[in-house]
Amino acid sequence: MKRLTARIDNGLGDYDEICFINPNDPEGAYSLDDIVRHGSYETKLAIAERLAAYEDTGLTPEQVQELKEKQIPKPPEYEYIPQYKYASPTAICPICKGIVESPLMNDDYCRDCGQAIDWE
Ligand SMILES: [Zn+2]
Repeated sequence: MKRLTARIDNGLGDYDEICFINPNDPEGAYSLDDIVRHGSYETKLAIAERLAAYEDTGLTPEQVQELKEKQIPKPPEYEYIPQYKYASPTAICPICKGIVESPLMNDDYCRDCGQAIDWE
């Protein structure tokens, strides 16, 4: 996804200024005031459509970040589970500790929490 904004350190401490990037001007980054006063309708519409698409997800930024991190495959952990009489340890999800391995096939994702599993 191509970003519409960039956070720019403006030297005012903790506050980074959010600027809007003009795709037709690689050197161009404009403040919200500049966009409101001088931006084209198309630029304002692109910003509004991006915000609406995000809001349509119904998710918070933290939830989006959590989903993004679950897409990065993580190796399973292995544990001996006493009630399972298998000789070998059972693969479990590194996040929620749910079982991710079936006898017939390896799951690409944890069925309990959605974490991507790296079987390499
Ligand atoms: Zn899980």
